[in-house]
Amino acid sequence: MDIITKCPICRKEHPVHLTREQGLRYGDYRAGKGHIQDLLPALSADDRERLITGICPECFASLGEEDDE
Ligand SMILES: [Zn+2]
Repeated sequence: MDIITKCPICRKEHPVHLTREQGLRYGDYRAGKGHIQDLLPALSADDRERLITGICPECFASLGEEDDE
């Protein structure tokens, strides 16, 4: 299954591919049953960030730069 995330900054949509089991664990995360890094440890940090906030790696990097100011 693919979860379609939409970046709130650049408005681009990004699919995050999950196995069926990962999809069920993602459902648990959305239901507040745990931390996403514990439920989906196999995902990359970029994919987890997309699932949590929808922010894509490019925009996340630019946010980090702004925080340095
Ligand atoms: Zn973006």
